[in-house]
Parts: sequence; C-alpha cells; structure tokens
Amino acid sequence: MNNKQTESLCPHCFRKIPARIVPRGKKVYMEKTCPEHGSFRTILWRGEPAMNTWQRPKIPAPIHYPNTEVVKGCPYDCGICPEHRQHTCTALLEITLDCNIRCPVCFADGGRPGGDPSLDTIESWYQTLLDSGGPYNIQLSGGEPTLRDDLPDIITRGRRLGFDFIQVNTNGIRFYEEPNFLKSSIDAGLASLFLQFDGMTGDVYEKLRGADYLKIKLGLIELCAEMDLGVILVPTVVPGVNDHQLGDIIAFALKNMPTIRGVHFQPISYFGRYPSAPADSMRITLPEVMQKIENQTGGEIKTTNFAPPGCENSLCSFHGNFVLMPSDKLVPLTKRDAAACSCQEAQPAEEGAAAARRFVAQNWRRRSCCCGNETAGESKVSDSLDIFLERIKTHKFCLSAMAFQDVWNINLERLRDCCIHVVSPEGRRIPFCAYNLTNREGVPLYRV
Ligand SMILES: [Zn+2]
Repeated sequence: MNNKQTESLCPHCFRKIPARIVPRGKKVYMEKTCPEHGSFRTILWRGEPAMNTWQRPKIPAPIHYPNTEVVKGCPYDCGICPEHRQHTCTALLEITLDCNIRCPVCFADGGRPGGDPSLDTIESWYQTLLDSGGPYNIQLSGGEPTLRDDLPDIITRGRRLGFDFIQVNTNGIRFYEEPNFLKSSIDAGLASLFLQFDGMTGDVYEKLRGADYLKIKLGLIELCAEMDLGVILVPTVVPGVNDHQLGDIIAFALKNMPTIRGVHFQPISYFGRYPSAPADSMRITLPEVMQKIENQTGGEIKTTNFAPPGCENSLCSFHGNFVLMPSDKLVPLTKRDAAACSCQEAQPAEEGAAAARRFVAQNWRRRSCCCGNETAGESKVSDSLDIFLERIKTHKFCLSAMAFQDVWNINLERLRDCCIHVVSPEGRRIPFCAYNLTNREGVPLYRV
C-alpha cells in the first residue's frame, strides 16, 4: 500500500490542508501540515484486516436535492451541497441540548438547557426532509431527547408525515424511571431505542458517564422486553476503560434477544477542547474492534464475519449479521470476501417474508460457493429449514461499529460519503462528523 493523498483540516484554524495516508508496518497514519500551525500525525488503522484489503471503491450517489451551493468548497458548504456523494440514510434531529447526566464524553456538548426547538420547528424539519427526498430513518437525539415531555407528540408528528422508522438515542434514565412515559412514546410509534450502553460493570459508567448507571440500563431492557420494544446497545469504546468488555456486551445482548436486536460500537473520537493532540494510545481503530470481538468471543465471531458498508465510506464502519439458533449457535450471514467470489452478500433491505426468502436463498447459494462457511453449513444441517426461516424473522442479530472522524483524523473524502446527517436548527442537512467537528479549542465548525 502506497501513500495516498487526500484533504483534511488544521486542528487549530480549520484551514483545508493536504493530508497523506501513510502505512508504516501494520499501522496506517494520517500526516498533515498547516503552513501556520505545524505538522500533525494521527493513527487511522492498526492491524488486520489491512486497510487496503478493506477499502472498497465508492460509486458516488448523485445528490438530487442539494440545499446549498458550492462556494468555499468542502467542508464549508454543508447543507448538503451538490459535491456530496451520498444521500441521507439516517437523519438526526437534536430536539434538546439539555441532558440529565454530565458525561466526560459527549458528542453533542449536551447539558445546555434552554432554547429547545418548538414542535412546529421540528415539524418544519420533517417537512424539509420530505422536500429533500425523504422520508428517511429518523433518530431523535440531543442532549437527552427524553427530557422533552412532548417526545410522544414529536414522534406522532413524524409518523403522521410518513416517517416509519423513528428511533430515540438515549441514556435511558427517564424511560426507566417513568415506564408510562416509555409506554406513551411506544404508543406514539417509537420503533426502537438506540441505548447508550458502555459495559457490564459499574466502573465503566463511573468513568465514562460520571456515575454507575448499569442497574438502570438492565432495568430498562427488562421494561422494553415487557413492552416489546427493540433495543440496539450502543457502547462508546475507550481503550483501557471498556475495550476488554466487548465480548461480555455481546454475550449479554445475545441472552436478551430478541428484545436486543444488535450492538453498535462507537470507537471514541475526540470532539471538544483538546489543547494538544489526543495520543494514539487513546484511540481504538475499526480492525482492533473486530479483533477484540473475535478474541473475546473465543472465536465464535470472527473478523471475517464482518464486511465494509455499502452506504457510507468503507473506512467508516463494519457490520455483520447473524442468526441466533435455538441451540444458541450463532450463524453468520455476512461475508467480507463476498466480492472476491461469485456469491453476493446477503443483506435484507426490508423485513417480511419475501425478504426472508431472498435472504435464505442467498445463504443457501453461498454454502456451495467458494467462500462457503463450514460453521454455517453445519448449523443449517442440524436445524430444519423451517426453524431457520423463523429464526431469521425473530432472532437476527446485527453487530456493527462506526468510527466517527474528529478534527485530528478527518478525511474530507470520507466526509463526502457520509449518509448520517444532522438537521441543523435552520433545517440544513450536515454530515454528522462535520456537524460535531470542533477545533482544539473546542470551537465548532457548524454547531452553534
Ligand atoms: Zn492552521
């Protein structure tokens, strides 16, 4: 793998500067120099699967509904601009900046009460999304979105306008303490919880969230089981704090299926004030998350069960789908090397019988192709097709991770491929990492 040129930003002045992607042994770095503020080097990737084997060429998706013009160039015209290369997949609506906990780690600079957008403003955001090619998947976010008493109304208005999938990104405290509020949100049409869930021991929460919230998380998951609400666990992965608990989190999730539908890991990124660059030891890269999952599940889940995304840039995430069989065996459905042989990756785009059938058909075909998986074959022989079909509907398990970019490691090429867009107060769609980007003083590029 040779050096690759791209563009990044100066962590001091936000000036657009050239950057090089530089492999050194099994590590890959970003190196960049601002003519005024000097040179910076940040780790991007460590170990296997190697970055060059993971990367996929990206076919740009033409933007049919740009909301801004190209004036200063990426990343200064987000809204989104015509030079963006991916449609909106998930739209984040920040319905409050208020929060009920004070995390040392916070994307949204939460805990700033006051100035919540009105219901009508939120409805105008929904309308903007519809006018820009929506409906999209909606994630209500914050701050802590459950602090709004009118959360059920916000969900109702979205559902009425045709947004079928509305998820709440939450620490879960209010839902746990007020089950009736959870119930009202479900009755309004809440589809799923994106639940902050960092580990299986109290000390992890003390370090990352300021207090031990484990019992609250466990209690809330029981409530969700009673109310039949799906939950995605969302751990922020921090080296030395909880990166040894990835296997335990997965084991817990599997034990609580089908309430828990999956785990979405987020390696820590550094938004906010950092007078000097965060040390490389403070970062964990996507291949390391995959390796740790393999090691900590005793090899039951393998790095080869994960694939790059088909939507955002391949360096932004990984995902793997599995079916948990009645025997507790986990059957992998995703294959990283699918592109290397004639079989296709099996990823159902929607639920339903037709999708399940297609899904299984693709799996059957894969068994006999060059990348056939022995483990999958074995399980399917021992379980009948009927059971497998039923389990795909009820016990599909999704593991994924997304690496956000901060000002130290941002690659503008990746940013242009982003499909997770925050709706800004004035109704513009801004790629998640651009919206949350801050310079080393903590001054934001977009967020007000
Ligand atoms: Zn600079």
